[in-house]
Amino acid sequence: MLNFELYNPTNLIFGKGQIEKLSTLVPKDTKILLAYGGGSIFKNGIHEQVIQNLKGFDIVEFGGIEPNPHFETLMKAVEIIRVEKIDFILAVGGGSVIDGVKFISAAVNFDGNPIDILQKRILIKENAVPFGTVLTLPATGSEMNSGAVVTIQATQEKLAFGGSAMFPKFSICDPTVIASLPKRQLQNGVVDAYTHVMEQYLTYPHEGYLQDRIAEGILQTLIEVGPKVVENPTDYALASNFMWSCTMALNGLIQKGVPSDWATHMIGHELTALYGIDHARTLAIIGPNLYRVMFETKKEKLAQYGRRIFNLTGSDDQVAQEAINKTVAFFHTMGMDTKLSQYTNEYEKTADFIVNRFNERDWKGLGEKQLITLEKVKSIVEMSY
Ligand code: NAP
Ligand code: FE
Repeated sequence: MLNFELYNPTNLIFGKGQIEKLSTLVPKDTKILLAYGGGSIFKNGIHEQVIQNLKGFDIVEFGGIEPNPHFETLMKAVEIIRVEKIDFILAVGGGSVIDGVKFISAAVNFDGNPIDILQKRILIKENAVPFGTVLTLPATGSEMNSGAVVTIQATQEKLAFGGSAMFPKFSICDPTVIASLPKRQLQNGVVDAYTHVMEQYLTYPHEGYLQDRIAEGILQTLIEVGPKVVENPTDYALASNFMWSCTMALNGLIQKGVPSDWATHMIGHELTALYGIDHARTLAIIGPNLYRVMFETKKEKLAQYGRRIFNLTGSDDQVAQEAINKTVAFFHTMGMDTKLSQYTNEYEKTADFIVNRFNERDWKGLGEKQLITLEKVKSIVEMSY
């Protein structure tokens, strides 16, 4: 196992009705920026609940954070915080709003041009404006991790950043919020969380036996509840297990002591930046083809995955191949189209475009051992057409 430090200061408050604790969680006498997305929180009553539970606080609202949040939009909030002298940010939304708030929090006191946080991937370790979250969409784990992804609209780049100051102070996770989610977003949540586990589990060399068992437990739970929760989002047992699985998939725990890949996400981000495809769907397009192209390095782990998750039998080769097919079948069950050509007609130049971009950024080798060369990226993307 690799050496590690485990640091996760987020106070996670999970369960029905937990939003009532909001006023005790936000520091006293602070001026709050209440940040949200396109308005779903007005339709499902979450906005009202937040306001009810923040009586007495001075609140400035900032709405309009779009899915795959834009740097340009977020900088407007940065300006408001500076002018209004706001000392706490409350993100009410899904991964996009939470990631957006992480960027806002980092940018307010950033010494320099905040675009560098993204383009130079600056680690944010201090001087962030404190923030908490009310999660409305289980998927990203952003409610309990220190990473975020932001799109620069002007350059069509979708870039990740993070740092130890980017953990939420608290996150309220009430599984009943998923009742108002469209099917498409529920499907997305399951597949995003599933792929988060795969990015940390399907790596080599990986000597985290316990991490493996935890990861497999999350995968099995997602396979068990995923298809059902999409049909019955008001079933509390399903909703709560779905939500907790998503948080556990990317709160850092299964990543400790093992290498992680993240190339599926890095390539997927490009598909969202280019074509606006939902984040989870880009992962369903790329992930299985990445496992195919990297078959020789990932074979042993794929075989373990096939045996433990899908009860497959046979040689390592057979089980590993079949495990990839089973993964694709699961994504189909979750309503994913897994070919790029099902989302856009302009797919033919995608591989070259992405390879050029990675080249410009000097990303010559991705994955846990940097073995995913640009040539391999090209094959993965072309295989995904
Ligand atoms: P999202 O982009 O935050 O939200 C998707 C849509 O769902 C929005 O239109 C939103 O509407 C709606 N919505 C959210 N909650 C709702 C509810 N309770 N009822 C009805 N509609 C609701 O989706 P996401 O999948 O959570 O986040 C995706 C982003 O996170 C991507 O940019 C992705 O790259 C990033 N990501 C981050 C991490 C991380 O670790 N930080 C990991 C993976 C992915 P409104 O805007 O109107 O609220
Ligand atoms: Fe993701």
